[in-house]
Amino acid sequence: MYYSATPSKTLPKFRRHQPGLPRVPITLTALRALVPANTRITATTALAIAGKQADALVGLHAARDGSRLPISESLITGIRRLRVIDTDQRLPGSHAWNTTTRQFNIELAKTEAPERRFALTHEFKHILDYGRTAQLYADSSIMSAAELSELAADFFAANFLVPTQWLTAAWNVGTRTTKELARLFLVSEHVIRDRLEQTGLASGDGSPSSNTNGTELSSPTPK
Ligand SMILES: [Zn+2]
Repeated sequence: MYYSATPSKTLPKFRRHQPGLPRVPITLTALRALVPANTRITATTALAIAGKQADALVGLHAARDGSRLPISESLITGIRRLRVIDTDQRLPGSHAWNTTTRQFNIELAKTEAPERRFALTHEFKHILDYGRTAQLYADSSIMSAAELSELAADFFAANFLVPTQWLTAAWNVGTRTTKELARLFLVSEHVIRDRLEQTGLASGDGSPSSNTNGTELSSPTPK
């Protein structure tokens, strides 16, 4: 993951609450605006911000596609200034700013859809964080900035691809095995297990549980 230049052009902001629009344009700028300026950000808040950014994208999905699942990654791939490239690389995903095309390239290994969707979304979060990692991941009390950045990217991807409200809805109508849920949301069973744990819906093995006490980092709350 590297950058060779800084993108400078500001894109128009999207408007979130416009029900009925067939297509809702989104921009990196609007999602980045969810990071509070000039504030010291704790690790917990950094993850909460990742969750808010994921929620904003899910809101756009709802405006465009209603409650249809799985969540379409076209919300991300349709963003101007992003280009997705298939490669033979071993890494699931990587990204770079291309000075010639003035686009972010997201390079993805040829993997199955669940892994590909997760890698795409994970890399997209790194692009959202571009230029802000020093502010977002300065809290080294729990882990290093690099580790926290990776955790936030995973958290963003999981929350975007498996939104809490729809995971809960699926759970409540009896879709409870990790296999069924993974198929419904088109993610790996590993992601489903994490989300069930984060949301307190299950202990993580697909069985109902009264345990809602995730670790602080798996259930962040804004402070
Ligand atoms: Zn990463």
